[in-house]
Amino acid sequence: MLVTLEGLDGSGKTTVWEALQDVYSDAVFTREPTSDSWYGEAVNRAIGDDDADPLATLFLFTADHADHLSRVVRPALAEGNLVISDRYSDSRFAYQAASLRDSDLARPMEYIMGIHAAFSRPPDKTIYLDVDPETAAARSGATNKFEQAAYLADVRANYERLIDSEPERFVRIDATQPPEDVLGAVETALAEILDA
Ligand code: C5P
Ligand code: MG
Repeated sequence: MLVTLEGLDGSGKTTVWEALQDVYSDAVFTREPTSDSWYGEAVNRAIGDDDADPLATLFLFTADHADHLSRVVRPALAEGNLVISDRYSDSRFAYQAASLRDSDLARPMEYIMGIHAAFSRPPDKTIYLDVDPETAAARSGATNKFEQAAYLADVRANYERLIDSEPERFVRIDATQPPEDVLGAVETALAEILDA
């Protein structure tokens, strides 16, 4: 089973993902953008480059996703593992669709979803850590162009669209709560997902 963690920057995804490793010690924990490949390095260069072209950035993220799928996610699932990913395809649908909002693409999110539909492996369940854009920007320190509140408001609206279109896949958790409460809610949600 493939479970993904999604949410704005500063929503606490990585903190939760790290804490879950103690609880689900048999699961495969992974993340996007990847941190152990040159594709991931290329993505991180694009994230840090204020002039990076948003369409080129989308394709770098998508290349990293393709590599992540074939190298990590598909083999782990084939062996019957629980895979828990800190960010996955929904981050592209939410973030890169926001980056491409004013581009020549008529429907950026549909375009990005179409590319993924051709080769990707959708998550079985997605835990969405919901936080308002102002809190997200303040918590993340807004160190790059993607972490500004106005941009994150667009990203959050895109996540809302995704949740509305597939409510059964998502579990929404209030991530403005204290970290231990967020972790507790995620653990409860995950236990229910694995029991079902
Ligand atoms: O939250 P995380 O550390 O995984 O994200 C790294 C950076 O990449 C953040 O600034 C995030 O906003 C950005 N990002 C993005 N598009 C994605 C995933 C992450 O712009 N699809
Ligand atoms: Mg993170």
